[in-house]
Amino acid sequence: MTKPRIVAIDDEAEFIDILENYFGLRGYEIDVAVRGAKGIEVVKEKNPDVVLMDLKMPGIDGDEVLKLLKSMSPSPKVIFITAYDDGGKTKARLLKMGAYACLDKPISSLRDLEETINKAVSN
Ligand SMILES: [Mg+2]
Repeated sequence: MTKPRIVAIDDEAEFIDILENYFGLRGYEIDVAVRGAKGIEVVKEKNPDVVLMDLKMPGIDGDEVLKLLKSMSPSPKVIFITAYDDGGKTKARLLKMGAYACLDKPISSLRDLEETINKAVSN
């Protein structure tokens, strides 16, 4: 099975580096962006299977990026990774909007994230 193509969008450059290293070393094709607007461009260009996305970013935030990605065809699976917590309200809303999953930042295990990514593309 070919590995899912990933685009990661997050304004924290250090976190983006961690993702790029981890998945790059494991043979995934991963592209990154530190702004929502740039992320949309990269998604259009790379047509990834999965988008890893931050919620809170300057400019276009994850919410708006999700809306746009859901209108694309084919539309990538979107996995949010965010430290934002308002008692689960926002997470529930994002899932209702079509996000595949919402994970907590800091991420407890990159292996678990890898599993979630592979699960997202297997159905
Ligand atoms: Mg952020």
